[in-house]
Amino acid sequence: MNSFDDGLLPKNDTHRKIIHLDMDAFYASVETRDHPELKNKALVIGQDPRNYHGHGVVATANYIARQYGVHSAMPSIKALRLIPKNKLVFMSPDFKKYHSVSAEIHQLMHEITDNVQSIALDEAYLDVTENKLGVTSALQIAINLQKKIKKEIGLNCSFGVTYNKFLAKMGSEYSKPFGRTIILPEEAQQFLAKQKIAQFHGIGPKTQAKLAEMNVFTGRGLQKMHVRDLIKHFNRMGYLMAEHANGIDLSRVIPDDERNRKSIGIERSYEPSVYSEQTALTNLRNYVNDLADKLIERNFYANTVVLKIRNSDFKTVTKRRKLDHATNNPLELYDVAKDLFDPISSSFLNDGIRLLGVTATDFTEADYENMDLDLFIQ
Ligand SMILES: [Mg+2]
Repeated sequence: MNSFDDGLLPKNDTHRKIIHLDMDAFYASVETRDHPELKNKALVIGQDPRNYHGHGVVATANYIARQYGVHSAMPSIKALRLIPKNKLVFMSPDFKKYHSVSAEIHQLMHEITDNVQSIALDEAYLDVTENKLGVTSALQIAINLQKKIKKEIGLNCSFGVTYNKFLAKMGSEYSKPFGRTIILPEEAQQFLAKQKIAQFHGIGPKTQAKLAEMNVFTGRGLQKMHVRDLIKHFNRMGYLMAEHANGIDLSRVIPDDERNRKSIGIERSYEPSVYSEQTALTNLRNYVNDLADKLIERNFYANTVVLKIRNSDFKTVTKRRKLDHATNNPLELYDVAKDLFDPISSSFLNDGIRLLGVTATDFTEADYENMDLDLFIQ
């Protein structure tokens, strides 16, 4: 840990075992597997611009095409200029096929754990701290998975194994294709120090340029910055950069089935019933705080808040309100919940409240670059 964190950075947690798995040139590899005659071609998945009036974007390029400087999100017409015509093959993406191959890969991952968080069709985090196989070596689990995907599905992937998500992703990027990277807790600072800023996931070109002006080009440069200065220049993103440069990422692997839920709620029933307004409001505040924690952890912002209340005669009422802006701020959420509670509170308190709950729904996911920092600087 660097000496400039002013106690702002949280204590690190290095006990978890996290794998980031990333398929190598996924769409292109699937097509090469299914069309072996393309093996020595520069394969570009994307529409052939010659058939679409020069339009089209590269979805994925295989490694031969990449040697010519072609990469994803590049206009297809540029690939046409960079790659000799006799080498180049365009192929339109077949997303239905990629979805089904991705499902096969997920099946293999779920043989290990259900703690799988998908980032894209070709990319996922696994938390294997506890796993169905009872294997303690995360590296062994990852190697076996990589071999199994090769043998049963016929595709290459890379992985990073370490103690958090951020580092695991950096690891899988570090030695592609068919890469294996393990980063031990005691190696993390060193590993990060050597990485170029562009390798830090989440730091876009604008921030890179700003950092370059501050003479920060590597993880080492970030590690040397005062956390407060990073926050001053980049708000919450500066704080995250400081955490990441120091090998800290406490975010959980959130299983897909949990992530896909459409709402998150907390409710409790009471025996005996609650007759005190103060107790009811204190409980409500606690539920809202827990709810906000869950939203923040998932990076979800709620657009709608629902209050549920039941009295001793099992009369149940739910009140919902659409917000004028999405939020996961506990104070704002509480204001709405209390607003929903107040007009009906006296009749329910009269009969006794048997159940009280608050639910957030209608989610927006925020981007890491445009969050603000009021949670951190007080
Ligand atoms: Mg990939």
